[in-house]
Amino acid sequence: MTKFTDLGLSPQILAALAAKGYDTPTPIQVQSIPALIEGRDLCGIAQTGTGKTAAFALPSIMRLTANAKPRPPGGCRMLVLSPTRELAAQIAQSFEDYSKGQRLSVGVVFGGMPIGRQIKMCGQGLDVLVATPGRLIDLIEQRALNLRHVEIFVLDEADQMLDLGFIHALKQIDRLLPKQRQSLFFSATMPKTIAELGSRFLTNPVQVAVTPVASTAERVDQYATFVNQAEKQALLTIVLKNEPIERALVFSRTKHGADKIVKHLGAAGIRSAAIHGNKSQNARMDALDAFKRGDIKILVATDIAARGIDVSGVSHVFNFDLPNVPEQYVHRIGRTARAGATGIAVSFIAGEEKGWLRDIEKLTGVKLQTAPLPADFATKAAGLPKPAFVREAPHGGRDAGRGGRGAPAAPTGEKRRFAPKRAPGVGTHRGAVKRSGGSGGR
Ligand code: AMP
Repeated sequence: MTKFTDLGLSPQILAALAAKGYDTPTPIQVQSIPALIEGRDLCGIAQTGTGKTAAFALPSIMRLTANAKPRPPGGCRMLVLSPTRELAAQIAQSFEDYSKGQRLSVGVVFGGMPIGRQIKMCGQGLDVLVATPGRLIDLIEQRALNLRHVEIFVLDEADQMLDLGFIHALKQIDRLLPKQRQSLFFSATMPKTIAELGSRFLTNPVQVAVTPVASTAERVDQYATFVNQAEKQALLTIVLKNEPIERALVFSRTKHGADKIVKHLGAAGIRSAAIHGNKSQNARMDALDAFKRGDIKILVATDIAARGIDVSGVSHVFNFDLPNVPEQYVHRIGRTARAGATGIAVSFIAGEEKGWLRDIEKLTGVKLQTAPLPADFATKAAGLPKPAFVREAPHGGRDAGRGGRGAPAAPTGEKRRFAPKRAPGVGTHRGAVKRSGGSGGR
């Protein structure tokens, strides 16, 4: 097995890795680090959770420190672009951790924060700048930042960049970067439009592909509960009360929906917080920090806000709403399968979402196991503090669905509804589900 010491990394970096407790490089690190130390360009198909941040950060830190230069005032030597604020903050933190004791200046800029301090920081110059595209352009237009000194450029999560409409900003940034530089381009998927974008930035790149998007799914025990849209809130509340949950992420399709879930859970005595694009940056950071610290166990998120979130120990992912893009489902449940861990994903499926479920199962090749509604669901739901939820139903009603109210109830005591009872041939990964206490595990 390849070790970090086989990859040509410097003693300082090896020490930082030891301090982080990493002992074995992940596949993307094995494939990327030697070529990046040589200065090659790289085109990587990899999603978050594969260790790709370290794959690009470690060799870059080495190259920057081996060729030490003064920080360029109003500029940076390395630029990393991230689609979301949370991911940008996380990447910057990784750079800080991996370059401990090496006097590298690392800065992060994104929208939703006062720009004044960022202008001042850029003025002083940085070794590494991590940025979201919108704020980067703002800073450039305000003449607080120029890209003339960039030696290493990383475009992370390119597919998400395009989904978020950053294509114009990326082309603008491309024109401002020096021709002579090292470029790294990462995307979870590589359809034609993204490959074309990549070719704008890259010269004769090393191609690296790890963990094709569908395979993460095999490490997660996946369940589907068929339920009316109007009854999803009650189902979530009841399940969260019964399951031994370490940390759970709940995905809502809309921002308004996420806030509503938090309110309903609060009324039922379950603390949670929401992160989505309508929240202030500080509120998003506070919620994420509280979730990371374990002060709150339930984080309700929309897809955009959750992208790239790296929190260890997420035991459950709940899809309150199913995403209409099947790849998004894999990204969501991947939150509970980071760095080799495994977990449980539960999707609540209303009648109109069944088509999306079929698309997801086709992509992943994994059929979700049906988890019936909890025993006495209707009675328990009626006893919840917010009885108004039934009346709130925007499009419930019609959808008794397979396994609606009339579905077979869980056999007996449902403390562990999601104890892994696999149908033969379902999934491929046995015996690896991380249990967080409670009884009835395998
Ligand atoms: P990333 O894909 O960069 O978001 O990384 C996913 C998670 O894996 C992060 O929590 C990293 O700190 C962690 N990680 C990265 N490389 C390793 C490694 N070689 N061994 C253990 N954990 C790692």
